[in-house]
Amino acid sequence: MFRLLVQSVTDYAIYMLAPDGTVISWNAGAERAKGYSAAEIVGQNFSNFYTAVDRAGGLPQRALGIALSDGKFEGQGWRIKKNGSRFWATVVIESVYSESGQLIGFAKVTRDLSEHKRKADELRETKDSLDLALGNMSQGLILFSGQEQVVLSNARMAELLGLPNERLKRGVRIAEILHDLYSALDLTPGEIQIEVQHTIGQFRAMTASGKGGQTELKWGGRSCVLNHSAKTEDGSWVTTVEDVTERRVIEDRISHLAHHDALTDLPNRMSFRNRLESLIAEASGGKVTVLYIDLDRFKPVNDTFGHTVGDAALKIVSKRMQAQLRRRDIVARLGGDEFAILLFDNASLEDVRVLASRLLRELSRVICIGDFQISLGASIGIAMASAGETDPDILLRNADLALYRAKASGRGHYRFYEPGMELVMQQRQDLEHDLRYAIYNNEFSIEYQPIVSSKSNRLSSIEALLRWNNARRGNVPPADFIPFAEEIGLMPQIGDWVLRTACREALNWPDHIVVSINLSPTQFSLPNFVQSVTDSLIEVGFPPNRLELEITETAMIRDIAAAGSTLSRIRALGILVALDDFGTGYSSLSLLRTMPFTRIKIDRSFVQDLDRRADASTIIQAVVSMGMGIGVAVTAEGVETEGQAETLTNLGCDNLQGYLFSRPLQRTHLSEWIKNNSLSHAGQKEGFLKNSHQAM
Ligand code: C2E
Ligand code: CA
Ligand code: CA
Repeated sequence: MFRLLVQSVTDYAIYMLAPDGTVISWNAGAERAKGYSAAEIVGQNFSNFYTAVDRAGGLPQRALGIALSDGKFEGQGWRIKKNGSRFWATVVIESVYSESGQLIGFAKVTRDLSEHKRKADELRETKDSLDLALGNMSQGLILFSGQEQVVLSNARMAELLGLPNERLKRGVRIAEILHDLYSALDLTPGEIQIEVQHTIGQFRAMTASGKGGQTELKWGGRSCVLNHSAKTEDGSWVTTVEDVTERRVIEDRISHLAHHDALTDLPNRMSFRNRLESLIAEASGGKVTVLYIDLDRFKPVNDTFGHTVGDAALKIVSKRMQAQLRRRDIVARLGGDEFAILLFDNASLEDVRVLASRLLRELSRVICIGDFQISLGASIGIAMASAGETDPDILLRNADLALYRAKASGRGHYRFYEPGMELVMQQRQDLEHDLRYAIYNNEFSIEYQPIVSSKSNRLSSIEALLRWNNARRGNVPPADFIPFAEEIGLMPQIGDWVLRTACREALNWPDHIVVSINLSPTQFSLPNFVQSVTDSLIEVGFPPNRLELEITETAMIRDIAAAGSTLSRIRALGILVALDDFGTGYSSLSLLRTMPFTRIKIDRSFVQDLDRRADASTIIQAVVSMGMGIGVAVTAEGVETEGQAETLTNLGCDNLQGYLFSRPLQRTHLSEWIKNNSLSHAGQKEGFLKNSHQAM
């Protein structure tokens, strides 16, 4: 029975070996495991089941040796089936003795555990790769059980939390971990307890919500984001921790950049407006004050000394402003050389006046940068309102309006906003609108004023003078729109139109007559100015030596070197250049000598002074003799009386211009005037004057 039992067992290979290892019995399990039938294997040595390597290593003999000496050998290893394939075997070999104590052989039990081994191997590989993944994650990770104990965590977690690895090992309770974390902070035991309970409460709420959640912790200068998964059915969940310290630093930096001016590190326009808005919202009933500050003369400083010096000056200016304020007040840089101040404390009108004066004084103090001494100044516009009664945009607009008026009234001043200032602004905007359309609507025209030679009284040149006729405004005097058009940047475009139109018209004049055209400073300082003049002349087909460009000192003083080179290039083309309005601006004699002018135009005011002031003729004479010295012709403007004409002629002025000879004339009247003038006999002053009076 027992033999039958053993023979029929199929899960285990059970067989007997002779003392030398020869197989002497074989059961069904052995046949199944190794593929041999009893007939095939009985009589063979059991070492056949071993791999060649094991056999060479003497493994079969060693196993028998151990079974002999210890009574039993147990082991695992690869064995070979009849068909050559291998299987993973667990083996027990026991020595068997007869009753008389004689060694009969060995009982051998082998089990095929290949499947088992495969699973175990797989599991180990999975675990290895899991460890690999966990160990190399940039995030820390903890798996908590439903009992809120650690099941698994990676080293990164311990590192991020600043805890030793063993404080996160399996079985540690979440409360203990939090306790460790909060103990590192400067808290009393009671506070630690409260924090721990609070945090656990948060974790529970989030993990139980079914969606998980996120918390951010900061400690030791680090910021970490904790992500909690939702709880699984058994109550476990995963918490990952990510170090966002660097990201937060960058984010803070970006947000700082978005709200601050890079040069001065002052708040920018956007954040100024935000702060104003929240101040208005929270200051119930108190006064809110905004000062708009615009630096005077900053642009020339920047242009003359360069941007590095300009930047340094802006930094110093912003420090000076800050020094005048209390800690809660805010100074912002709105852009360029514009600043704004927001007063937080309920300032009285008198306080604000005092502050504004102090600011003006501070900002006009000389600034020393390296060897440069820079003197700026400022204009200030102020708007005050009760918090409940205004909104940020109105307050800002009012401060801007007041600033505009402060600048218009001669700079270096402060102005409070007053109702009615909108109107002025509105008028400006209307004017701007109308001017922009004037070009397209053909509202501009040109009048021509003859200039005569003082000796012959003959026409020598004609000055083109811009006129604007608007349907609603009528004829607008040049003084009322040219400086404004200059300010809003329209003059280059308009000036270009004047140049082409006047040259085209001048083609109809006698061909020795020069056309004089006024240049605006912005037009003259455009980088492509010379090119655009050349283009216009080519287009119109006008000879350059019949063109005279009139330019004022103001246009040159900003950048004398650049002006000099532009003038030289113009002269090189054969175009004449006149210094206009001499005597009203800087009247720099050195400018006269260094710039390649072909003509000086003495301003009207000197001619008028001839009748009133004795020194006027002295000055005119000086200019004339200097002009003669350097070979530059002199024209006197604004000649209205024959007395003036005579004096100026005697003083040596080459040319005369004024109502005495002709007012500026429309195109058609000009040709009439020219006709009459050329008909009149040269040198006959009376006849000439008679004609010109008719033309007037
Ligand atoms: P300006 O260049 O000094 O032009 C001479 C001004 O004196 C003209 O004034 C002319 O009408 C005026 N005038 C001429 N003779 C007499 C006189 O005997 N008595 C008096 N009281 N005035 C006389 P207007 O036409 O009003 O032009 C004013 C200024 O506007 C010009 O002064 C010039 O600076 C500017 N301007 C005129 N047209 C242009 C232009 O096309 N471009 C530029 N950039 N400026 C222009
Ligand atoms: Ca002129
Ligand atoms: Ca003039």
